[in-house]
Amino acid sequence: MRALSFDGTRLRFDPAYPDPAPPPGHALVRVTKAGICNTDLELVKGYMGFRGVLGHEFAGVVEGGDWDGRRVAGEINLACGQCPTCLGGMPTQCPNRTTLGIDRHDGAFADYLTLPVENLHPLPASVSDKQAVFVEPLAAGLQTLHLTHISPHDRVVLLGAGKLGLLTAQVVALAGCDLAVVVRHARQRALLEKWGIAVAEPGSLPPHQADVVIDCTGTAEGFADALALVRPRGVIHLKSTYHGLPQADLTRAVVDEVQVHSSRCGPFEAAIRLLARGLIDVDSLIDARYPLDEGLAAFEVAAQKGTLKVILDLSP
Ligand SMILES: [Zn+2]
Ligand SMILES: [Zn+2]
Repeated sequence: MRALSFDGTRLRFDPAYPDPAPPPGHALVRVTKAGICNTDLELVKGYMGFRGVLGHEFAGVVEGGDWDGRRVAGEINLACGQCPTCLGGMPTQCPNRTTLGIDRHDGAFADYLTLPVENLHPLPASVSDKQAVFVEPLAAGLQTLHLTHISPHDRVVLLGAGKLGLLTAQVVALAGCDLAVVVRHARQRALLEKWGIAVAEPGSLPPHQADVVIDCTGTAEGFADALALVRPRGVIHLKSTYHGLPQADLTRAVVDEVQVHSSRCGPFEAAIRLLARGLIDVDSLIDARYPLDEGLAAFEVAAQKGTLKVILDLSP
């Protein structure tokens, strides 16, 4: 099969990568569309020491088995199902897990992938393949609400209007709270205004007043910026995996009794439901589409500052 693989040094298009053989309990999925995520851009710089086929945001069609012919999205963590963490209902935290296209399991930038059948979620006809590519990051955005209670009374500030930030902003706005997103670029400002979400210039918001600050910046400065905005006993919710160690006045966090929350992977079913109801605009986030054999060019475009989602088209 065709695949975009990373050998630890460089990313390359391989027209004859070995086909995956699904072990018992796994489905063989023919990938139709896949999305390039910031995590993929980090993996090709050496994050996680990953080797193999990249890609964890996808839509596809199952070939063979009980799910034959079904359009699906798929959860990316392959949990063991037997350890205390799995049995305690937290499979995404399984210490024995591998992760699709991120950690020791070949991913979605290929004609085929395999996943355990329990990871699959059927897609309704009202969600297109290119929209379904956003199910995984949208679920990650939803996990913010799962782990931090946000009420309609809350003043919420979201920092970082990249791909994940723009999805998370749309999710948080559904809670009816007083939300402002700090934006630096006209493109993001226009999108947020189209969705009826308030925007703010960097440095323009009053310090120490937000009940909740959500950091989607992906930068080491994001935590310090969040700390400057959150009120005493407020919550900072971290969505960034940071480059380097954030520098921040942690004494202030202690004196002001600031709570720090974080979240990563989230509920796929809810994400699919929101897309099916048309409550989240993902189409506006797609900046470019490339066939798989132009994957290297797709990565270059995805890495340019300001690019939102780049989609790889695999099969119709
Ligand atoms: Zn991702
Ligand atoms: Zn486990």
